[in-house]
Amino acid sequence: MRTGSMRVAEISLPAIRHNVQRVRELTGGRVIVVVKADGYGHGARIAAQAALAGGASMVATADIEEALALREAGIEAPILCWLHGVGADFGQAVAARIEVGVSHAQQLEALAAAAREQGTTATAQLKLDTGLSRNGAAPEEWPALFARAAELQRAGLVRVSGVFSHLANAGDAHDRAQAARFDEGVALLRASGIEPEMIHLAASAATLTSPHLHYNTVRVGVIAYGLSPLADRSSAQLGLIPAMTLRSEIVALRGVPAGTGVSYGFNHVCETATTLALVPMGYADGMPRALNGAGAWVTVAGEHRPIVGRIGMDQFIVDVGPLAGRLELGERVVLFGDPERGHPPVEIWAGLMRTINYEIVAGIGPRVLRVPAEAPAGGDADRGAEAGQ
Ligand SMILES: *Cc1c(COP(=O)(O)O)cnc(C)c1O
Repeated sequence: MRTGSMRVAEISLPAIRHNVQRVRELTGGRVIVVVKADGYGHGARIAAQAALAGGASMVATADIEEALALREAGIEAPILCWLHGVGADFGQAVAARIEVGVSHAQQLEALAAAAREQGTTATAQLKLDTGLSRNGAAPEEWPALFARAAELQRAGLVRVSGVFSHLANAGDAHDRAQAARFDEGVALLRASGIEPEMIHLAASAATLTSPHLHYNTVRVGVIAYGLSPLADRSSAQLGLIPAMTLRSEIVALRGVPAGTGVSYGFNHVCETATTLALVPMGYADGMPRALNGAGAWVTVAGEHRPIVGRIGMDQFIVDVGPLAGRLELGERVVLFGDPERGHPPVEIWAGLMRTINYEIVAGIGPRVLRVPAEAPAGGDADRGAEAGQ
């Protein structure tokens, strides 16, 4: 077990439970929570456990490997995964009772072969491409794929538990066109003799904006973590609580005279005498190096203070001038968290980097300790309670 307070992503379990509960209230149907990419950087096991406690009926990953890791971590709930390499090991997925998203005939045959070999029934969910032009079976493949799936289901080798597709989020008209194509796919599947239990199209954005796209299940990632997928709506406006508080601590403090250059290249020079705080997080931990000079800030002792100078691989500098007398080594520094609790929202970094909140949280590096906390989001967990699970 790793411990420490130098680089911590504190993950509020109550926040994840609340967000999932909120999705359940919004939709009234089943909720699949996506925990791919290490739970969007929050820790896949932590995220999966909290999501299930909040009422998710299934968790999902992209890869089989991610799904297997969850099983090994003791997650017994249904798990779905849908993105497979050419040599994907469906045998391991079948043995671990993982539901496999199937995008084409070859995957279906490989899954059936694995089931035959183990003398068991594999569970599949058929993934349809309704316009995103990525993963999923194209409409012209549907008749043959569905007929073969029905045959394998009758033979007891593959049970088709669901059908799903993914939206391009290109606007309401496109969403409706994709939904119409999805409806045709579901109808064709039924006509082939398969009645799917789970029918799902909406991810986070459509779950929030389009009740007519909820079907009987939604498949959400980012809103389970309390982040907004909508450019013009904040977490709070959507009734969500950001679950991750990224924090570190001051490991050195130094008073400097006016004219002092800071960090590589001296692209920040202190205009007046001030105090600089050293914080041991850097671009290897997922802080974008290009934040340098862009106006990003952190909270220290409840105050907003600017990041100054270039961000290094392992460390950066905060100008804590006016706070100097109040600070000691070990003082907590919050890089982002819940703005309702006074912390910078992750959307500041995302905006400065011209990207989305998803990319920032998913990019938090492996040196950062994920610490589950029963405290509300906001970095309030006691330092003594950081041992994790
Ligand atoms: C990542 C992913 C999701 C979750 O998307 P959010 O916008 O985070 O809700 C849902 N479905 C598929 C197929 C995905 O790849």
